[in-house]
Amino acid sequence: MGRTSKDKRDVYYRLAKENGWRARSAFKLLQLDEEFQLFQGVTRAVDLCAAPGSWSQVLSQKIGGQGSGHVVAVDLQAMAPLPGVLQIQGDITQLSTAKEIIQHFEGCPADLVVCDGAPDVTGLHDVDEYMQAQLLLAALNIATHVLKPGGCFVAKIFRGRDVTLIYSQLRVFFSSVLCAKPRSSRNSSIEAFAVCQGYDPPEGFLPDLTKPLLDHSYDPDFNQLDGPTRIIVPFVTCGDLSAYDSDRSYPLDLEDGSEYKYTPPTQPPISPPYQEACTLKKKGRLAKEIRPQDCPIGTVDTLPQ
Ligand code: SAM
Repeated sequence: MGRTSKDKRDVYYRLAKENGWRARSAFKLLQLDEEFQLFQGVTRAVDLCAAPGSWSQVLSQKIGGQGSGHVVAVDLQAMAPLPGVLQIQGDITQLSTAKEIIQHFEGCPADLVVCDGAPDVTGLHDVDEYMQAQLLLAALNIATHVLKPGGCFVAKIFRGRDVTLIYSQLRVFFSSVLCAKPRSSRNSSIEAFAVCQGYDPPEGFLPDLTKPLLDHSYDPDFNQLDGPTRIIVPFVTCGDLSAYDSDRSYPLDLEDGSEYKYTPPTQPPISPPYQEACTLKKKGRLAKEIRPQDCPIGTVDTLPQ
């Protein structure tokens, strides 16, 4: 590819370089701000999944003059330093990273949390959408710890099959949830941005980092939500207590002393996947495959047919 062909094909790529932004993504945040006035009154912000740092550049310029630490940027990858931006290198789905971010905002909450995180896409849409949703939920979990009431959360979202489930989850915490597609985001991409304004968690909600996502170790109590986010559905058992116990084995002899008579299934399975194995077994031919190349020379013709 020639030095200018990408500049020709992608105007935002070219403009980013000309305007000193580290990535073309800067325009997405700028266009979202044009529409939603995201930076109005904002003095403290968190940029999750920030590298190479163009959103942090925008944030530090827009809410600049506040001194170091008013923008906290987090990414798996190292990022070149930016004035007024405190950097944390870590995985936002890990408890240790989340704790480090939260610590920084203790007693002094943030006005805005943004997340432009994207997993390494595999090309398998369901997997990519799932991974993206996990990233968004990890970001939301962190946001519930650091946002002040009325604060704003903006996160990249893939408009996949289950996106409405994510909107519902976001709506539990924000009075307004919108899906926005800036001009600088390619039409060919399923990427968009959830713009969630008016942080307003349910009454009695206590943020809990271990639920639902940030601790992947298995624990039987894992995912047990508490407080207003927990919904208890009735558990009902049916059938008389004197009915047969489905976990027990019962003798075949009948209570009246008559002999047990086998009854074939009412409707046997039609062409089950194990049929071939059953047929081979009946013929005594269900054995490990013998490959001709493994046989001593001259014995191939004697293999069972
Ligand atoms: N907003 C950035 C900018 O303007 O420069 C671009 C972000 S880039 C599209 C996506 C970033 O997400 C990558 O730098 C990647 O390292 C980061 N990322 C992906 N998964 C992450 C995770 N679990 N924790 C932290 N960062 C993650």
